[in-house]
Amino acid sequence: MSTAQRIDGKAFAEGLRQRVGSEVQRLKADHGVTPGLAVVLVGEDPASSVYVRNKAKQTEEAGMNSMEHRLPEDTPEADLLDLIDTLNNDPAVHGILVQLPLPGQIDDQKVLAAIDVEKDVDGFHVENVGRLWTGGEALVPCTPYGCLLMLKDHLGELSGKRAVIVGRSNIVGKPMAALLLAESCTVSICHSRTQDLPARCREADILVAAVGRPEMIRGDWVKPGAVVIDVGINRIDAPEKGEGKTRLVGDVAYDEAAETAAAITPVPGGVGPMTIACLLRNTVVAAARQNGLPDPGI
Ligand code: NDP
Repeated sequence: MSTAQRIDGKAFAEGLRQRVGSEVQRLKADHGVTPGLAVVLVGEDPASSVYVRNKAKQTEEAGMNSMEHRLPEDTPEADLLDLIDTLNNDPAVHGILVQLPLPGQIDDQKVLAAIDVEKDVDGFHVENVGRLWTGGEALVPCTPYGCLLMLKDHLGELSGKRAVIVGRSNIVGKPMAALLLAESCTVSICHSRTQDLPARCREADILVAAVGRPEMIRGDWVKPGAVVIDVGINRIDAPEKGEGKTRLVGDVAYDEAAETAAAITPVPGGVGPMTIACLLRNTVVAAARQNGLPDPGI
């Protein structure tokens, strides 16, 4: 029987978007600043296209300006760098997001490095990464920041907790580790070479799964009373729904883990909705900083 509390990321993201919206109104009314987010998509990858559309829609709903730049698949790297230069110098643009992955002729790292650090709302620029690890004024990657907000909301004080993160990517695992370390957790980062992963996971008061392997983390890997954050998004066959049908699952076997954990995020409806909400939040923070205003407390 499931005893764990289901952490509702959809409702949490809705609340965050409302707080962002209020802050946007305050920036407009008190300072004449309308935060602007430019999203750049190169090529026509259908999944990326949907993300970009959702980002634009939610940006506008929050009262901000949304600028969408769609470039053809065969865009030369130099043209993309020129566009970034233009956006870096446009005072109406406070946040720049280049949708990844980029086509093969373009070097992702070169493009990320070209974005003005203060407009890097994805938090992937090496200088923002450095600021995050050294306690500076960083823009923080959206998905791990969303996880942190949900953890703080659920647990309050995180200091002293044992946190285990499975996955060491630059976009989720590593920044998650930096954020939890900054909250004074004792942090372990696990990956594909980690020995006895189930035992490492069982040590965790906070278990974050960012692997990309459907339901890899089983119920008996979870310490009783742990809080489990499942970042994974995996599409698997669902013959029970009909021929050719699929469904989304996380990296954690939800039903099993929910028997042991104190709280757990579902997939879908957990971490996923928080990512765009945090992107909007980062854009507002970037707009405030670029206008010499204090960080909004959102
Ligand atoms: P990556 O593929 O970049 O990283 C996966 C990590 O998992 C690697 O560090 C890898 O280890 C580790 N790993 C792989 N297999 C195992 C294993 N058997 N045991 C232990 N560790 C393993 O993935 P991302 O971090 O980009 O994404 C992770 C998941 O989160 C994906 O499902 C993705 O779709 C989802 N995601 C969701 C987001 C959202 O909710 N908005 C945003 C971003 C990602 P090693 O380094 O040794 O190879």
